[in-house]
Amino acid sequence: MKVNCIFCKIIRGDISAYKVYEDNNVLAFLDIAPVNPGHVLVVPKVHSGNLDDVDELMLAYLMRAVKRVGKALEKGLGVKGYNVTINNGAVAGQLIDHCHIHIIPRQPKDGLTPWPQSRYKDDEARKLAAKIKASVVIC
Ligand code: 5GP
Ligand code: ZN
Repeated sequence: MKVNCIFCKIIRGDISAYKVYEDNNVLAFLDIAPVNPGHVLVVPKVHSGNLDDVDELMLAYLMRAVKRVGKALEKGLGVKGYNVTINNGAVAGQLIDHCHIHIIPRQPKDGLTPWPQSRYKDDEARKLAAKIKASVVIC
């Protein structure tokens, strides 16, 4: 557990947060700066820097909590859908070094634009897929 980690402080109760779900392994609380109202962060109670540090069992606990909180957003707030996102690594926008899953409620025409997409050229897709496939490690 990292003393200076803000999410560990929330887990310990050293700083406050609006908690919405908790079990033995996982805590979920409102993001302090929501993309949309009801934006929730789901975190492992054990400090884990990013996805690489989270074991399979904890991943299952996290996703179970995501599903439970998602259902609660639907039932409690009338949310019709939500985005589930992990910003994994600084280059992906991870600002807090304690793995967390964003659940972002969506509303029709809420102004959130989809990610820009592109097209592969020539043989690029086949080469990339081959490189990724050859690098898969069962961890
Ligand atoms: P990241 O960019 O690392 O994926 O997301 C970190 C999230 O943590 C941000 O959406 C940010 O608003 C949220 N956050 C940062 N500090 C606090 C805090 O002290 N309390 C709560 N509830 N959320 C925080
Ligand atoms: Zn932490």
